[in-house]
Amino acid sequence: MIKLGRNDICWCGSGIKYKKCHYNFDSKLEMAIRQGHIVPEHRLIKTPEQIEGIKRSAAVNIAILDYVGEHIRAGITTEEIDQWVYEQTKMRGGIPAPLNFEGFPKSVCTSLNNEVCHGIPSKDIVLKDGDIINVDASTILNGYYSDSSRMFLIGEVSKEKKRLVQVARECLDEGLKEVKPWGFLGDMGQAINDYAKAHGYSIVREIGGHGIGLQFHEDPWVSYVSKRGTEMMMVPGLVFTIEPMVNMGKPDIYIDEENDWTVYTEDGTSSAQWEIQVLVTEEGYEILCY
Ligand code: MN
Repeated sequence: MIKLGRNDICWCGSGIKYKKCHYNFDSKLEMAIRQGHIVPEHRLIKTPEQIEGIKRSAAVNIAILDYVGEHIRAGITTEEIDQWVYEQTKMRGGIPAPLNFEGFPKSVCTSLNNEVCHGIPSKDIVLKDGDIINVDASTILNGYYSDSSRMFLIGEVSKEKKRLVQVARECLDEGLKEVKPWGFLGDMGQAINDYAKAHGYSIVREIGGHGIGLQFHEDPWVSYVSKRGTEMMMVPGLVFTIEPMVNMGKPDIYIDEENDWTVYTEDGTSSAQWEIQVLVTEEGYEILCY
């Protein structure tokens, strides 16, 4: 951490003197470090200007998922969802973040039933009555990143699958109750894991959420099987995703050997996931993208 004088201009870009800006914030961070906690580096603390940029990106991402929600139905292919996402993103001046990201071939992830995440849209995958599907969209707008996903029920869905989708959504609410400044990501992680377990479900351990804003994936990596009082401190200005993958059966997963992307449940049971992007504020949190 750079040592600034009290009358120097603050590191955050506000143009205000350090003592009137992030001086107390840094004192708290230093105290937390002395107590052995993990705290974010300054580069992860978003400035008001960056938050505005992220919100504009998020508005595009929200509109894309709204569009998908209005048009998704039995009989369409996941390739069509990919086309919608590409067109809706371009139309609003954005770039689909998944496209060509580490070689990903499409603009969106579409994960059905026993697929946990990173499903690749295809003209061979036709949505049918009873399917549950996660559509995970991410947008780059003027260099700012947003990321969220929703579940959609196709036609008549079994009671069991409906309940899974519902509980996965409720997991976010349970997690959000724990998002407060100077708390720990582990508070949120444990709340989510406890809630899923109480409903007989399990949470995927190997894949989690992430910081986001100036890049697609920033620190911290966010687990939802973590323990209260552990992991990085949530401080005002930190932006990250909450996106637990909730399995109906066991938490174990495997990755498709052919495409090296799609993640499946090991036991073949269904999996559900909702993703939101949140900002930690002085008072609590703000949902930026859903
Ligand atoms: Mn994400």
